[in-house]
Amino acid sequence: MAFELPKLSYDYAALEPHMDARTMEIHHTKHHQAYVTNLNNALAGGEWESKSLGDLMANISKLPVAVRNNGGGHYNHTLFWEIMAPGSGGMPSGDLLDALNRYFGSFEKFRELFTNAAMTRFGSGWAWLVNTGSELKISSTPNQDNPLMDVAELKGTPLLGVDVWEHAYYLKYQNRRNEYLAAFWNVVNWKEVDRRFRGE
Ligand code: MN
Repeated sequence: MAFELPKLSYDYAALEPHMDARTMEIHHTKHHQAYVTNLNNALAGGEWESKSLGDLMANISKLPVAVRNNGGGHYNHTLFWEIMAPGSGGMPSGDLLDALNRYFGSFEKFRELFTNAAMTRFGSGWAWLVNTGSELKISSTPNQDNPLMDVAELKGTPLLGVDVWEHAYYLKYQNRRNEYLAAFWNVVNWKEVDRRFRGE
């Protein structure tokens, strides 16, 4: 069963004005679609063709770079669409908020550290909130790598991720990654981050 581009649960314009509709549409229908197509092409006819995305990530060091780049791209963007939603933003609550307070000092401090990880990722990549199994940590990865990959410096389950490739923000924010990251907090779907935190 080949991988498929997931449908978004909201319209391309639903995250306006923080994420503009044109960027959302190109990002989903062109960039994410290309990762899916190229991943399927890279796996076609090989022994890894029927493996899950999780299996691919966990064994990525043994796989061709096209699987790393495009499999990572497919996983990362699927997560990215889900951890954003219209009418979101604000703060998490309950156990997730308690955990952020415990590991980072406060929610505000968490936001500052996460934003810093995203700002200081040179070139293209992602910043992450990661559950290592024993604690929550912040990391960033280059290109389309992610914390599920066996090559990741910090391994664990991604709870929240932000795309800092220029294609994610250039049309609206041009080179102003800081403004894009500030806007990102207005669309974070904390319900979904909490679902991931609870291991569902
Ligand atoms: Mn992207």
